[in-house]
Amino acid sequence: MRRIEEIIEGFKKYSPDGDVNLISTAYVFSARVHKDQLRFSGEPYLSHPLEVAYTLVQLKLDAVAIAGGLLHDTLEDTYATERELEELFGQEVLSLVKGLTKISKIAFASREEKEAENFRKMILAMTKDIRVILIKLADRYHNIKTLQHASAEQQKRIARETLDIYAPIANRLGIGWIKRDLEEYSFQFLYPDEYRSIEEKVSATFEARCKYINDLTKILEAELAKNGIPFSLAGRPKHYYSIYNKMARQGINFDELYDTIGIRVITDDLKDCYSILGIIHSLWKPIPGKFKDYIAMPKANMYQSLHTTVLGPEGHRVELQIRTKEMHEVCEEGIAAHWKYKEKREIKGDHEKFLWLRRLLEWHQELNDPKEFLDTVKVDLFPEEVYVFTPQGSVKGLPRGASPIDFAYLIHTDIGNHCVGAKVGGKMVSLQYALHSGDIVEILTSSTQTPHRDWLSYAKTSRAKAKIRSWLTTDQRKKSMLLGRELFQREVENYHLKPQAVIKSREFQHAMKEMGFNSEEKLMEGIGFGKISLASLMGKIIPQELLEERKKTKETEPHKAHDKGKHKRTSEPKIRVKGLNDILVRFCRCCNPIPGDPIIGFITRGKGVSIHDMDCPSIDLNIDSDRQVDVDWDLEDQTYRQVAITVTSENKVGLLAGISNAIASGNANIAKADISTPEKGPARLVFTIEVKGLDHLNEVVKSIRTVKGVVDVHREKHQVDKKNMASQND
Ligand code: MN
Repeated sequence: MRRIEEIIEGFKKYSPDGDVNLISTAYVFSARVHKDQLRFSGEPYLSHPLEVAYTLVQLKLDAVAIAGGLLHDTLEDTYATERELEELFGQEVLSLVKGLTKISKIAFASREEKEAENFRKMILAMTKDIRVILIKLADRYHNIKTLQHASAEQQKRIARETLDIYAPIANRLGIGWIKRDLEEYSFQFLYPDEYRSIEEKVSATFEARCKYINDLTKILEAELAKNGIPFSLAGRPKHYYSIYNKMARQGINFDELYDTIGIRVITDDLKDCYSILGIIHSLWKPIPGKFKDYIAMPKANMYQSLHTTVLGPEGHRVELQIRTKEMHEVCEEGIAAHWKYKEKREIKGDHEKFLWLRRLLEWHQELNDPKEFLDTVKVDLFPEEVYVFTPQGSVKGLPRGASPIDFAYLIHTDIGNHCVGAKVGGKMVSLQYALHSGDIVEILTSSTQTPHRDWLSYAKTSRAKAKIRSWLTTDQRKKSMLLGRELFQREVENYHLKPQAVIKSREFQHAMKEMGFNSEEKLMEGIGFGKISLASLMGKIIPQELLEERKKTKETEPHKAHDKGKHKRTSEPKIRVKGLNDILVRFCRCCNPIPGDPIIGFITRGKGVSIHDMDCPSIDLNIDSDRQVDVDWDLEDQTYRQVAITVTSENKVGLLAGISNAIASGNANIAKADISTPEKGPARLVFTIEVKGLDHLNEVVKSIRTVKGVVDVHREKHQVDKKNMASQND
């Protein structure tokens, strides 16, 4: 078992003033809470956090991170509490351990490439502190190295997850040695047969290759020495997973895989890299297309090196990598290596995805020591994105601020269109809720639900917005079309003609073309939308004598509409007023009619029919008669509508209760009450109540009148000012 002294000594080497005390107290605590626990291997559990801490020392992390590593399993696997950790080790250590606990709770299931990518990003997005990721990598590094003790099922699962998620993260952070080992061990557990086969072949050719490399390096050594270039040479065993990958990717077998011979040349200076390249190319013929200059164009994870493949002695392909010591360390140690070198480096190869890494480096360059660096690094790794789960465990990426609406449309247009609500982690949230990385999102749907205009402001993705807009447009067209057809039929029947016959007539077809419509539907839509006036269409399609006859009858009873008492329902089809969601009907706010009030409708441009009280002062029949339509209440509709009433009463205690009681006993709700009680004189109470219609209202008013002390009750019909009214009408 690794000893704590080893860890502390290692730590002191690169951080002489570091907080050793924090590390040793974390060790003592971890030893206490993990006491009596064993690993699968039968070793004391404590061996695991110690190995993790040791890896963190190799990564040259600060004391907080090492303490975090020693404690990383205490919240999940022991009786230790958050409070204890915070009291003993501070908020920072606690938040690292909490971050690790959070990551360990999410399970990666799918094998799809895209999913894996989203999953990686989610883990990074959930982590505000890069140290959490580094501890997680160290944790996985030890677990995979001891995976032989786990069950077969666990081996496969952990190896899969490591290969798909954690090795790529290590690669992204540029920590070559961790990446390589994670891959090698995972490969061994996931594909044992392939692993063994490659192992056998590599060892069968091992001696021959050693000899070959030996011969070749002798030639190279002599040449480099002659030119006075400092260098060191290393034969570079390819790791098995990369051989396997190459074989699988190129569809070739082991014998066809030439560049299993690799040599790495490490030198002091950047310019020497290119000199060495020149010497190699003069010794052996380079293979075209195989030269890569990752020095001028570093990889996104900061990897730098020159790569070339040449035709060596006996015609074998040999791959050579040439780099400086510094580049080599960066390649092996990733971000840990960066603070060893202070000179400004320019980073090219600007992958936007890895901008955060660049930012990381820039910050580090302004700082002086690793502790300060890591203390400052509270990175938001993917500031623009959030990653959430479907209930089935797939991961979906969305822009930050995205709502359940965006998520619903991402799953399927139908889910979006019928979305009524959402649950996050089993709890209901509003449709405006901003999703967080790691949320498990469930969308509730209803077949009767349709998109609302409000949704446009909840949606962040252009996909959701486009889908909502498209639905709203189609919906409005459909409604306009239905309305237009109804208006058209009603008008035609006024002339005692059959709508179908009129539509088939030559005049109709001609008028339609003349007005610029290419189908009957479009024309009806135009009427319903208010784009064309019904009167002008009639003028073109109804025979002259019928038009005149109708004009005459209208003149003889011009005020029919005004005559409330005699207002008779005819058998003509009417537009039913049935709530706002139905056929493009809207109630104007200037007079606020309720079922039972005599009403009149006007076609407004693009807004369907607006409904006014017959007495509404904002309508002018002489001007608006062209756009007027007959409307009628749908008496089956039991929707409650709001109406304002003013109660004048004596100013005495207990009266309000009496009035409220009267309203409630009449089965009406009070939506709002505005009460002003002057010091002297009668009190004035304005209630907004919800009633089914005029009859209902009259009953309620009657029962309020019976309350002792009430002087007067009357309805407030026209309470909106003139300016507002104007906007109602068109
Ligand atoms: Mn662990």
